[in-house]
Amino acid sequence: AKKRDGKNGAQLFDNAMLDRARSRAEIEANIEAGLVDNWFEAFLQPIVNLNGRGIAGFEALMRLNHPQKGLMPPAEIISVAEETAKIVRVGNVIMEKAIANLAKISCIAGMQDTYLAINFSPLQFEPALPARLAAIVGRHGIRPERIVVEITEAVLMHDNPQIRMIVTELRHFGCRIALDDFGTGYSSLSYLNRFPVDIIKIDQSFTRAINDGDDDVRQKSRMLIEGITTLSHKMNCTVIAEGIETEEECRTLHQMGLDYGQGYLFHRPQHATTLIEQLVGSQSAVARAS
Ligand code: C2E
Ligand code: MG
Ligand code: MG
Ligand code: MG
Repeated sequence: AKKRDGKNGAQLFDNAMLDRARSRAEIEANIEAGLVDNWFEAFLQPIVNLNGRGIAGFEALMRLNHPQKGLMPPAEIISVAEETAKIVRVGNVIMEKAIANLAKISCIAGMQDTYLAINFSPLQFEPALPARLAAIVGRHGIRPERIVVEITEAVLMHDNPQIRMIVTELRHFGCRIALDDFGTGYSSLSYLNRFPVDIIKIDQSFTRAINDGDDDVRQKSRMLIEGITTLSHKMNCTVIAEGIETEEECRTLHQMGLDYGQGYLFHRPQHATTLIEQLVGSQSAVARAS
């Protein structure tokens, strides 16, 4: 009781830790409630062809829609879900909802061949995953070729034979594998010859850096993206730039040879219902114009 004024470092540290533990416990409770009461949603963000901006596919982005607090940011929820292993159940909900949404979108003219990219955490690569995914796509009449499995270096860094086996199994089933947030981890390039990858997603920090005020940073990041793109194409990989927010970024990336892009410039992540309304709306606008 002598050092209650907070001048003591240890005391401050303890309080901060306590706050963190409290908020983690709260997030964990929200995750559990969300699973039981169906608060999780799979938002969708279109991925466009940089040549013409037509929609090639969609990325499913998890959202927890709390009845009082509204949409909660996914980063915190995902890290707590990973620590508590609840990510497997959350992931199963997202897979089911996102694939059901893809099936709905497929009914819109011009959307029948679009793909769906789903994010996976390391823990989700359990032996039951391929059969579960197969059952969901089968039930919704979706070809496995339309599913992209997004993994990060965190998945590959585990260098776990089980993870490798399951990723390979998913690929044999027909799914494509995308390496997400490329360029942010360590020794990214070494993964490319050890792992079957079809798509490289260049992290949005690179998309920002190509217009950096510092000439040196700008030039080097442009060279890096060009190099990664050339290399990826030689390895028969498609390249997607993440986080495109401006016309200038879009123009530069297109000139540098990138195939696809994703970002607020084109579309924000949206609730599937809103997105479907928009897509149907733009379809009928096209029909009226012709
Ligand atoms: P990610 O897979 O790299 O997803 C892209 C993130 O960039 C998304 O953040 C998206 O909302 C955001 N974004 C898209 N365009 C722009 C842009 O133009 N500017 C900016 N500043 N941001 C943009 P979000 O939705 O907050 O998701 C964060 C991360 O959480 C994801 O990064 C992914 O790693 C993870 N995640 C999301 N959903 C799931 C899921 O269902 N399962 C798992 N395991 N992880 C997920
Ligand atoms: Mg992703
Ligand atoms: Mg990413
Ligand atoms: Mg990212």
